[in-house]
Amino acid sequence: MENHYDGRAWIELNRSALAENVKFLQSRLPKDCKLMPAIKANAYGHGADLVAKELLRLGVDSFCVAEIMEAVALRTQGITGEILVLGYTHPTQFSLLKQYQIMQTVVDYDYAKQLNDYGEQLHVHIGIDTGMHRLGERSENIDAFCEIFKMKNLIIDGMFTHLSAVDAMGAAEQDFTNTQVETFYQVVTALQERGFRCPKLHLQSSYGVLNYPELAEDYARVGIALYGVLSNRADTKKWRSCLTPVLSLHTRVVCVRDLYQGESAGYGLQYIADEDRRIATLALGYADGLPRSLSKGRGYVLIHGKKAPIIGLICMDQAMIDVTEIPEAAEGDVVTVIGSSEGEEILASDLADWCGTITNEILSRLGQRLERVMM
Ligand SMILES: *Cc1c(COP(=O)(O)O)cnc(C)c1O
Repeated sequence: MENHYDGRAWIELNRSALAENVKFLQSRLPKDCKLMPAIKANAYGHGADLVAKELLRLGVDSFCVAEIMEAVALRTQGITGEILVLGYTHPTQFSLLKQYQIMQTVVDYDYAKQLNDYGEQLHVHIGIDTGMHRLGERSENIDAFCEIFKMKNLIIDGMFTHLSAVDAMGAAEQDFTNTQVETFYQVVTALQERGFRCPKLHLQSSYGVLNYPELAEDYARVGIALYGVLSNRADTKKWRSCLTPVLSLHTRVVCVRDLYQGESAGYGLQYIADEDRRIATLALGYADGLPRSLSKGRGYVLIHGKKAPIIGLICMDQAMIDVTEIPEAAEGDVVTVIGSSEGEEILASDLADWCGTITNEILSRLGQRLERVMM
């Protein structure tokens, strides 16, 4: 998978990996549980339009995003099917929900009133706070849920909660998850007992599908796993035989030069050659999502299947690597920052590990300048 594209720096998406991941995740769920892929933040950096189009082709037709403008952009690009906005939409933008047929999350009771006051019928999913305490009406406020169900302008298509500790399987996390699940069904049951029709339900995200497949309901809101990686390196490796990374990130060698003993490279005298070196400049920087904290040898890239350490401080648009041990390195060579090259592989979760964050952050911050190609 090299040299298929002529740009300065680009992302290649592996079409069959996406299809396999969809198949694997669906295989862990009953047939009547639909995947509702999370394609927020430009589909975790992959490119929301490319990913959504491919998912539609694969028969997946429900999506969730973080905010209204992400949903509008998808509609404008011709994406059909259901789209749920998981986060806040300002009342001045409620008209877009109607215009583009987008479902909105009810973030709490007061917000439900605002949605209802818009005066036209809007499709919503009610968020239930079962312990994460981020969004959702608090689970004990059954009367508030009843009031929401009585609101004339709300078409309640769904009810959901978000499980905040499903990624770890320690005793404390499992207890917490079980309590969240019980709390969710207490709300569902209470509403049913008061005669309200039960809408579609959903409570799983990626780790929910992997660690608690039995919690399947009408939808599973899968994000990171769909892209074939998990939040950290250990989990990514553990599930590597079931999930295939969809994204690889490549750039090009701009130039190769000698650096003589005692000379510095890059900003701030942060790299000084201890002996004569050969270095290469890459057309990729922190504005493209290469974390600046990988400067000064904390990260490496692959060139001709060999590891080349990043030296000095990563710049906005460029970075430098040491290619002293890779004499064949030359201008125009393809460099792999995430992905595999001649048997060596760098996972997005490796980058995350090197800079002390999670894969989700690395991927979702990949820049707008990168061209994205589905292959
Ligand atoms: C982002 C998000 C998801 C997807 O989470 P993953 O862990 O990436 O699968 C699901 N539900 C909500 C509410 C989210 O915000």
